[in-house]
Amino acid sequence: MARLFEFQGKALIAEAGIKVPHGDVVETPEAAVEVAKRIGLPVVLKAQVWVTGRASAGGIDFAETLDEVEGKAASMLGHQVKGQTVEKLLVEERLSIARELFVGITIDDRRKRPVVMFSTRGGTGIEEIASRWPQAVVHMDIDPRRGIYDFEVRELARRVGIRGELQKRIVPAIRRLWATARRYEARNAEINPLVVTESGDVVAADCRITIDDYAVFRHPELGIEIAREFDRPATELERIAYRVEANDYRGTFYFFQMLRKFKKGEGVIGFHGAGGGGSMMSMDAVLKKGFKLANFCDTSGNPPASKVYRAARIILAQKNIDGYFASGSGVASQEQFNSARGLIKAFAEEGLSVPAVIRLGGNAEEIAIALLKQFSDYWPAQLEAYGRDDTPEFCADRLSVLVMLPARAKQVKRFDYPREFSHSFKTMTGWVRFDAERCLRCEGKPCIKACDYGILELSDGVPRLAITEADAAKGRCVECLACELECHLQGAGGLKIELPIEGLD
Ligand code: SF4
Ligand code: SF4
Repeated sequence: MARLFEFQGKALIAEAGIKVPHGDVVETPEAAVEVAKRIGLPVVLKAQVWVTGRASAGGIDFAETLDEVEGKAASMLGHQVKGQTVEKLLVEERLSIARELFVGITIDDRRKRPVVMFSTRGGTGIEEIASRWPQAVVHMDIDPRRGIYDFEVRELARRVGIRGELQKRIVPAIRRLWATARRYEARNAEINPLVVTESGDVVAADCRITIDDYAVFRHPELGIEIAREFDRPATELERIAYRVEANDYRGTFYFFQMLRKFKKGEGVIGFHGAGGGGSMMSMDAVLKKGFKLANFCDTSGNPPASKVYRAARIILAQKNIDGYFASGSGVASQEQFNSARGLIKAFAEEGLSVPAVIRLGGNAEEIAIALLKQFSDYWPAQLEAYGRDDTPEFCADRLSVLVMLPARAKQVKRFDYPREFSHSFKTMTGWVRFDAERCLRCEGKPCIKACDYGILELSDGVPRLAITEADAAKGRCVECLACELECHLQGAGGLKIELPIEGLD
């Protein structure tokens, strides 16, 4: 789920007509002072970070004077709250609170429908409220097609003793929250606390909204960069990885950095899983061996070799890792040689310098393992490849042995790419380029045979597309990388598949 910051959520509910405190979001102490002058003192300064318990962690503070606003804003901006750097502050009027309530709308996956929860107690998490004061919490299913009627919300409020004038003010707030959640396809929209001020106003003092990942593309106005639930803003590498995933619907690629600052020799490895359950087991296996993970990565759902290549390059961009561990489901139906080809191209281009253990269990794993061994002269590091019969524990054990071995001096081959190209065609996410001069010198033309999809043919001794360029670009060239690898092994080096990675290259 893609989270919005408090100030973004408040802007959405304010647009729907729910009252929010006067204020603005700022990035400098000077701007905080300007906001305080405009809205009047006292004010509250709220760090815009995705953590719970901000107040106790120093992420919320109050200021009575402009000097205090400036000083406190300066001490919060650029500093960390529960591991997250504060880049923005919300400066708001300080409310005179008479009572705190809670209202939330969430998608109940079990019941397959939205549910509205309302409580006469707010301020702490709803789970804690519900367990401590169950009589103060009510909920109601919402039919997403017809929404909720006034009388239903009135009944909800009545069940927890909210009547009269207060009920009249709360009912529209709940209906408007539902309207916001529906409009922006939120999986969760929560106002906690929904404050009743001493003058009787009903005001949203805090707001958390998370948008359904699959709906994010319909809401470019929200400016969500990454449609995934992160408990902190995405790192540069995560942004790069997300763009890869967003631009290629084939298979799935997930990348999350677990450690960002570490040194060589600390036992931190790049982790590359394939398939949820298998990835988890593999992760456990390396953790039990005492390794730490620089990242979690998963490529599954039959991704093309090009996607696995990009995943591997992104993992290797974490320069201080001490090893590379790839292991996932042992019985994957996807053809394992696709993953192997992606890894080989990445390892050869990057000159893999840390030991790697690759466990590719599943369909055609023997071919995948053989391929990895065949190309082992293209990188200096030791790499061992295994299949389904070798457990993640055994493979993790092998990695712990390999990282202890001294680096070997080894003659390394390089992918001999042409510098100039005579012709090219576009694939879904890259280019296949040829050098006709080299191809004319090539005897076996193994690239033609390697293309199981039959989209290459010989024309005057040079490989060319046997289908239209438009069809190749739409995906008939599946970016399996077989032609390029055969060209390196047996050809004359007349082919290069370019797979750009925006932000990394
Ligand atoms: S294998 Fe390489 S060099 Fe030989 S024809 Fe194919 S692309 Fe050209
Ligand atoms: S041309 Fe054929 S072998 Fe080469 S990447 Fe495309 S589908 Fe694979």
